Amino acid sequence: MTRPWNFGPGPAALPEAVLRQAAEEMLDWHGSGMSVMEMSHRGKEFMSIIEQAESDLRALMSVPSNYKILFMQGGAIAENAIIPMNLAGKNPKIDFVETGSWTTKSLKEARRYGDVHIAASSLDPDAAQGKYTRIPSFDEWRLRSDAAYLHLCSNETIDGVEYFEWPDMAALGAPDVPVVADVSSDILSRPMDISKFGLLFGGAQKNIGPSGLTIVIVRDDLLDQAQAACPSAFQYKTVAENGSMFNTPPTYPIYIAGLVFQWLKQQGGVAAIERQNIAKAKLLYDALDASELYVCHVDPSVRSRMNVPFFLRDESLNDAFLAGAKARGLLQLKGHKSVGGMRASIYNAMPIEGVQALVEYLREFEQTRA
Ligand code: PLP
Repeated sequence: MTRPWNFGPGPAALPEAVLRQAAEEMLDWHGSGMSVMEMSHRGKEFMSIIEQAESDLRALMSVPSNYKILFMQGGAIAENAIIPMNLAGKNPKIDFVETGSWTTKSLKEARRYGDVHIAASSLDPDAAQGKYTRIPSFDEWRLRSDAAYLHLCSNETIDGVEYFEWPDMAALGAPDVPVVADVSSDILSRPMDISKFGLLFGGAQKNIGPSGLTIVIVRDDLLDQAQAACPSAFQYKTVAENGSMFNTPPTYPIYIAGLVFQWLKQQGGVAAIERQNIAKAKLLYDALDASELYVCHVDPSVRSRMNVPFFLRDESLNDAFLAGAKARGLLQLKGHKSVGGMRASIYNAMPIEGVQALVEYLREFEQTRA
């Protein structure tokens, strides 16, 4: 049976091999007589699962030893509050670079916990299609040298804008300000130099596994700065000291994440998957740029390799386009409701064959309308 190609933005397609292994192990994990869902989180079986998952993630992302990896809950949206509660306890100043819908949402939430300053924004409020299509150049950034941290989103899932160069905080006049990055939708899609960040966070449901698991990678010196009102279960120090077991962690998503990490190692790790992601993204953007019907407004230098938003120049064809796609087994291509148009999410688990099928359909649909 061939499965359809799923271009959903998250929860998103997982590697088929992972789903098959999970199905095989569903009733009896490794002779334990239990499903992973039925195990005590403190038992030796689950402890082996979480320890392996953590060490695989650490290896895949080359996480330095002075950073903790935390398995939390609440998703990236909860982190929009949990981060300021943790990092803006002693100093309320929080800087943001606004590059799309997710940073906008994050900064609105952070305002409830700190003094937010927008250091740069790429919002174009008058654009008819695509209000965020670029990343402000570093010389536009107005950082506060005494901020508690700077928040950015490495890949704007809705708008399709991705960073390919990290800020040099010393050169920007803020050498002591840690960078916090929302990596929900590009984590593990490419190598990232973790030492350039104070904290990275993301929901799991794109490149990692099922929703319900949030990954936080945080530098040791930032663990103990929380506001007094921060709930214990969300205090990074408490979560770290308890090995992500202060409360019951999302055990099944952690297990699936662990299978995805092993799958990724078998693919050759993040450097190898990045090469595939570059090839997939090029194939799709080239097809869009070569067409008269489709348009992608994002500046080519920051086009996301994970989420490709595009529009049909004749939007009256949107429903026909989506219906034809579905009939060919190309699922979940509708753009986010706040932006409209289309969006193809091509995370790690999407093979190039899926992108080829989409590109063939794009051409075929355009020809039938010519
Ligand atoms: N940040 C980014 C970049 C995202 O793509 C998403 C979800 O799509 C979120 C935050 C919100 O994540 P969650 O729904 O897991 O809270």
